Amino acid sequence: MDWNDTPEQGAFRDEVRKFIQTQVPSRYRRPQADEDGDEGGGGQVATSAWQLDRKSEDPAIRQAARDWADALASKGWVAPNWPKEYGGAGLSPMEQFIYNMEMARAGVSGVGGSGVSRLGPTLIVHGTEEQRGEHLPKVLSGQIAWAQGYSEPSAGSDLAALTTRAMRDGDEYVVNGQKIWTSGAHVADWIFALVRTDPDAPKHRGISFLMIDMKTPGIAVRPLVNMAWERGFNEVFFEDARVPVENRVGEENRGWYVGMTLLDFERSNISGAVSARRNLDRLVRAAHGHEVATRRMDNPAVKLQVADRYIETEVMFNFSFRIISMQSRDQIPNHEASVSKVFSSEMDQRIANTGTKVFGLYSNFWDGAQAWTPVDAAVSHSYIGTVMRTIGQGTSEIQRNIIATRGLGLPRG
Ligand SMILES: Cc1cc2nc3c(=O)[nH]c(=O)nc-3n(C[C@H](O)[C@H](O)[C@H](O)COP(=O)(O)OP(=O)(O)OC[C@H]3O[C@@H](n4cnc5c(N)ncnc54)[C@H](O)[C@@H]3O)c2cc1C
Repeated sequence: MDWNDTPEQGAFRDEVRKFIQTQVPSRYRRPQADEDGDEGGGGQVATSAWQLDRKSEDPAIRQAARDWADALASKGWVAPNWPKEYGGAGLSPMEQFIYNMEMARAGVSGVGGSGVSRLGPTLIVHGTEEQRGEHLPKVLSGQIAWAQGYSEPSAGSDLAALTTRAMRDGDEYVVNGQKIWTSGAHVADWIFALVRTDPDAPKHRGISFLMIDMKTPGIAVRPLVNMAWERGFNEVFFEDARVPVENRVGEENRGWYVGMTLLDFERSNISGAVSARRNLDRLVRAAHGHEVATRRMDNPAVKLQVADRYIETEVMFNFSFRIISMQSRDQIPNHEASVSKVFSSEMDQRIANTGTKVFGLYSNFWDGAQAWTPVDAAVSHSYIGTVMRTIGQGTSEIQRNIIATRGLGLPRG
């Protein structure tokens, strides 16, 4: 196995690095930050910095978001995974891998959110010419941000149990119901949602995929504040919200299949591997300059934990390489992506836990601005912040079910 770049891959890597050095507004360059972008796995994580900045009250921050979107657009790199004919970069799986690796190394988050990772690829496959012409350019220019309205209070892992109704009334659907955990709905312009259009049909049928303007009368967004006191996701209520039938993607009652389309080829989660290693390096660097942590690191049990975490980040790199090597051979990772997701999310939680062992009681401090708080409070924040990692984008239990049945061929329980 040769891990080195070919000359072409090396040239592309240099191009990405140069672009990052010269084009990224300093606000989006956070090599020290323990952050998690919305790209990579292409799914549900906390609202990205770019999404929030677009709606900031500070004009300088709004301008930074604009500049960043423009810089990426000028390179055609807003949507690295979309085909060129739709305005994407049309990068090969290996180029996407290199691109994401370099962005993650520099701690740079992307733009476009789920418009790039989910809605765009779905429209490319299932949308009409009019729908693509209307929505794709606005995603690529950073003009419109999308939220994903799938989960409901009684429909998460079992998504097909969703009950939000959309009843046909002439050329419109009348939508009533509730979505929950909707990341970024408070700063989104549009939402794509799965809704029930035939309540009498079997569970997976009778569902349609709608694109809904958030300004539609009858939509209310209520914040959900997580245990880190951050507002990343929301409840979204629909009360007689009228949506034009032309906003339906795909056939009526076939929305389940539309909604499951996931052409995000970048499933290697290389960003997860890179940022985990970065966080660990940062932790160890900070420990060396901290009196209590230095003493604790002399304890063999703590030392071994840190070593284990380093080994795990190396394992994670190899899971990512495995997936990218499959994609380069036109194979579609399935249970392999689940293995990577379970391992990466649980490793992040273990790294945070190890941080608390290294800094002891100092890891309880929450306010990074205080002189006695180690690593700008990254330990306490990631200990709390990584809890969600094993829930969003499919819980660990659901991933393990996939690994058991599709990977190991075990019978369904
Ligand atoms: C940070 C974050 C962001 C999110 N963003 C969005 C978003 O933007 N849009 C959106 O639509 N959703 C979003 N979600 C919701 C996410 O998709 C759901 O939380 C997830 O699918 C789990 O569903 P649930 O919360 O209803 O839990 P449930 O499905 O009720 O699960 C509860 C528990 O039961 C277990 N369980 C359930 N079924 C099984 C089974 N068959 N076998 C074994 N165990 C099982 C689960 O693993 C879990 O431990 C987000 C979630 C998080 C944490």
